[in-house]
Amino acid sequence: MNGVRTQNLAGIGMTSERTRARMVERLRQQGIEDEQLLAAMGTVPRHLFVDDALAHRAYEDTSLPINFGQTISQPFVVAKMIELLMRGRPLGRVLEVGTGCGYQAAVLAQLAHEVYSIERIRELHERARGNLRALRLHNLRLVHGDGHLGLEKAAPFDSIVVAAAARQTPQALLRQLAPGGRMILPLRSQGAGAGAAATAQRLVLVERGARGFRETSLDPVRFVPLQSGKA
Ligand code: SAH
Repeated sequence: MNGVRTQNLAGIGMTSERTRARMVERLRQQGIEDEQLLAAMGTVPRHLFVDDALAHRAYEDTSLPINFGQTISQPFVVAKMIELLMRGRPLGRVLEVGTGCGYQAAVLAQLAHEVYSIERIRELHERARGNLRALRLHNLRLVHGDGHLGLEKAAPFDSIVVAAAARQTPQALLRQLAPGGRMILPLRSQGAGAGAAATAQRLVLVERGARGFRETSLDPVRFVPLQSGKA
């Protein structure tokens, strides 16, 4: 695994270093333990990924709007998903579905060998590119496309993280998960009808072993829906 690439980010996030250190402290209190992950989150300047008007709230433990009805995920949820993927092994080659503003992709790029991130909304994909330019992460590739299809040309992936909630695990993502690989994704409850139950979601961990896939259902979460096609 590569070390945390702090040198690329030096200077960019200096002014917000203390606020970020407080965020990292909170993540520790919330149970995040991986030191490399905490260091990566202490390095990526999260305020650069939200609109100027919201930048003062960038380090709160909350999701925030990033236009087009989408959100930047809550720091704890970003950390939790990556920690589940990393536990006991390197992240390796990673696929992220749902680039959004590019924040999680930047954190992943600090920790993984190689990261591919797909976004279906072209304007968000382009904004993410702009947000990430100054960070010069040479192991991160952004793709405009429908994450339901994964990314055949770069598969297989050791780790897949999905940042939008589907009803079922997309088949292409299962196929593109390497043997021994792990995927983390929010799934909407099966058969939930109208009303509050319809929006119930849980994080699900999928592990690809020698004899097939094992799914473990984890904490309740709230993500925007995984949608079909490019926009
Ligand atoms: N990873 C982001 C969170 C983005 S929110 C972060 O760091 O905060 C989820 C994103 O998933 C939205 O930008 C949404 O447009 C995108 N999305 C939804 N369905 C998708 C699909 N089928 N393929 C790719 N991206 C999708």
